[in-house]
Amino acid sequence: MRFADAIDKFQGDQMVLAKRVVILGDGSAGITFANKLRRVTVPNEIEITIIGNSQRHFYKADGLFVSFGLKNYRGSLKSSKFLLNGGIDYLRDEVYKINYEDRVVLLKSGKTFVYDYLIVATGNRLAPEEMPGYEGEATHFFELTKSMELKMALDTTSSGNILIAQPEGPVQYAPSLVEFALLLNGYLEERGLRDKVSITYTTPEENISAVSAISSFAEEAFEKYNIEYATGFAPKSINAKNKEIVSEKGDSKKYSLLVMPPPHRGQKFIEESGMAGDFGYIDVDKKKLNYGKFDDIFAIGDTANLPVIKTGSGAHYQATYLASRIAHEVVGGLYDFEYDGKLSVTTLAGMDTAFTVHSSYENVPNPTVPNKSDFLLKYTSSDTYFSSLIRGVL
Ligand SMILES: Cc1cc2nc3c(=O)[nH]c(=O)nc-3n(C[C@H](O)[C@H](O)[C@H](O)COP(=O)(O)OP(=O)(O)OC[C@H]3O[C@@H](n4cnc5c(N)ncnc54)[C@H](O)[C@@H]3O)c2cc1C
Repeated sequence: MRFADAIDKFQGDQMVLAKRVVILGDGSAGITFANKLRRVTVPNEIEITIIGNSQRHFYKADGLFVSFGLKNYRGSLKSSKFLLNGGIDYLRDEVYKINYEDRVVLLKSGKTFVYDYLIVATGNRLAPEEMPGYEGEATHFFELTKSMELKMALDTTSSGNILIAQPEGPVQYAPSLVEFALLLNGYLEERGLRDKVSITYTTPEENISAVSAISSFAEEAFEKYNIEYATGFAPKSINAKNKEIVSEKGDSKKYSLLVMPPPHRGQKFIEESGMAGDFGYIDVDKKKLNYGKFDDIFAIGDTANLPVIKTGSGAHYQATYLASRIAHEVVGGLYDFEYDGKLSVTTLAGMDTAFTVHSSYENVPNPTVPNKSDFLLKYTSSDTYFSSLIRGVL
């Protein structure tokens, strides 16, 4: 008899117990899922526990604006606990291992948790150690403190070549590097420095972006703004002495300032648990989001290996589907039958315009024309996010 079943039996064969849903990861996907599930179920049907190791929740898309001094970080930062609706147990701890045969999660503190449903939503591990020469040489805007450091570096730049490079493997919202290049162009123009600072963009992808609509737009924009770019450039190492990055093929690019997020990987406990797929993330069914043969383990958000780019928008739609599905299985009611690959992302096209792309597994990305309303949509998206998206209202 499994450990979880033994506990159920011990607590009384006749008693109808609430199902235990345990969520690993207190980021965008985990909190949205918890809030959505709580809105459609009550604690005596489903007990929800979320385990995470973050103190604060930063709305990452604003890292771009912070780097250019276009936004103060304070409105983009909340306590993680504050974002959880009532009726959800929150434990600040670190996941150490999943023992899926016994349906048990082991935590760093030594605590254990038994689950009926397990949702893994632990995002990415930034892994600078995967790229020789990275530490202390490259800068980026994928974490709040790094965005602040980058702002200082940009404020003190008056000449040279800024190289914006995408590392190999998946990264969070890779189009943010295209956005950065376009904002940088505007920022340098405003400071009267554009003719003194050159901008180069490289990506290991075949095209500027994996999203065709963003690629087509960026090709034209890069030509127009004299941003040099190279596709198929997979960085392998950084030579700090020569100020150059070297690719897998052996060619190199020089820089005076290097903007490159570290390589991204799945969390270590996923590997420890024997669940790691490509790049240490979890392979899931692309529509049902369950792991392997298990119908009680799911991965959502950036932790899941899915054939879509890693976005908060995707995490949101995945959380919506899964909350509905689990509520249906336990108490009946509405059910979204599958995640259809849906994403809606707004991409900055410059200092005051943006465009929105809607896509799914079946539908080719369909962009709006760059416009000021979409810029405002993006600029104020942290408000929508904190008031309704992560709260599970939308
Ligand atoms: C610069 C930038 C711009 C972006 N712009 C956009 C955009 O415009 N549109 C868009 O849709 N998306 C955007 N994104 C992507 C979006 O932010 C991510 O896709 C989203 O945050 C993924 O959510 P997640 O919950 O999977 O991961 P996260 O939000 O990273 O959450 C993971 C959580 O798991 C916790 N955790 C990790 N390991 C453990 C462990 N062992 N034990 C316990 N807890 C653990 C972490 O503390 C964290 O709280 C952007 C990202 C960046 C970096």
